[in-house]
Amino acid sequence: MFSYRHGFHAGNHADVLKHMVLIAVLRHLTAKPTAISVVDTHAGAGLYRLDSDFADTSGEAQDGILKLVASPLAAEAPPLLADYLQLLASFNPSGKTRVYPGSPFVTQALLRQEAKDKLWLFELHPTDSKALATHVEQLHAGRQIGLKREDGFEGLRALLPPPSRRGLVLIDPSYELKHDYARVAATLQESLRKFATGTYMIWYPVIPRPEAHELPRRLKTLANQAGKPWLHAILSIGQSPERAKTHTPGEATPRPGLTASGVFLVNPPHTLKASLQETLPPVLEVLGRGKGQAQLVESGG
Ligand code: SAM
Repeated sequence: MFSYRHGFHAGNHADVLKHMVLIAVLRHLTAKPTAISVVDTHAGAGLYRLDSDFADTSGEAQDGILKLVASPLAAEAPPLLADYLQLLASFNPSGKTRVYPGSPFVTQALLRQEAKDKLWLFELHPTDSKALATHVEQLHAGRQIGLKREDGFEGLRALLPPPSRRGLVLIDPSYELKHDYARVAATLQESLRKFATGTYMIWYPVIPRPEAHELPRRLKTLANQAGKPWLHAILSIGQSPERAKTHTPGEATPRPGLTASGVFLVNPPHTLKASLQETLPPVLEVLGRGKGQAQLVESGG
């Protein structure tokens, strides 16, 4: 079974990029009154304690969301960041950031009961899927949320196209299996055939591995072949010398801490490029750790 547990990484720089973009997409989709469907193929546990043993030992939120919350930028944040910080604050009414919402909770916070928006969650890890079920129960969201302990790539197939014909597919694997990179590309290709107007958001780690390097290129080709607009953004916080090696408990061997990640979207909101161009430079000023820090926003189609 997988050793990846998102609890070790919750609130890190990769979550900051991913969840800001997720919020922007959902704001755009929910601006129209008609229902939307969201499929989160790799949901995680849904909610994380930043003061738990998990988070304490890896400390990744310290170099991510907690650094942003404590920075002067929080008081004068560009709208996209302000929206994210506000949503985070709604999970932490005491004013201290102890709880971090993962993608299921970020999404659910923005869905509308009255519009009959729907959220499908897939999580394969037995412990995390149980935790997710417990967290979701507390929402009393009823039929708004469908939760499955199944393979998200497979499960997605049965859900496309959604009856609403409007929606988002978030594909956020842990890429523990090399095969995940190929599955992401194949899933996007197949899904675009079934649900061409859907918005797709794929997260991936920027690491020195051929499959990871190749993935955005492959996704651009698929979007271009389908004649669909795309957007690609990378946030790289660079390497700090003293934290060059991060050993995450639960993972088999020490690995260099993740310093950069990317999101690739097909059919992105037309306003997203400008929002990211406005938001990522000041975010990087706060989160950047020196050598290798960079950001990129590019689009096509
Ligand atoms: N999307 C979450 C968020 O932003 O809060 C984080 C998800 S985490 C990066 C990836 C999750 O996918 C892990 O919890 C892992 O157990 C789960 N997973 C791995 N392979 C899976 C698969 N084939 N189907 C469903 N879940 C899977």
